[in-house]
Amino acid sequence: MIQDKDILIKNGISPSFQRLQIYSYLKKNNIHPTANTIFTELKKQIPTLSKTTVYNVLKLLASKNLIHEVKIEDNELRFDAILQEHGHFKCSECGKVKDVFYDKEFIEFVEKRNKITDIQFNIIGVCEDCLSINNKNKN
Ligand SMILES: [Zn+2]
Ligand SMILES: [Zn+2]
Repeated sequence: MIQDKDILIKNGISPSFQRLQIYSYLKKNNIHPTANTIFTELKKQIPTLSKTTVYNVLKLLASKNLIHEVKIEDNELRFDAILQEHGHFKCSECGKVKDVFYDKEFIEFVEKRNKITDIQFNIIGVCEDCLSINNKNKN
């Protein structure tokens, strides 16, 4: 299996400990975290970690297309290590962000006439977990 470290090297990024930790965290945790969440979680294991480092590493990884920026609401930028084109469903109650995969034909259809530089495909609603809790409370 190809290691995260090798992926960084392949993309011209020298795999420092902190870079590797941030990249691996995003690959292991498919929760679309904000820079703040990543900082708070990794700070527990890396006490020397600074917020600036987290921002810089995220910027670097995004510039090499190793991660994607996900913008669902104007005030928060989230990060995603899944590179296949996909959209997101955000639950307005619990705030969880789930992946929604759409048909490749949809992209090809748009791409035929236009040049795509970024795709942000977002759905807001109430997720199935919250719906079932709501239903239970009603009964
Ligand atoms: Zn929910
Ligand atoms: Zn995603």
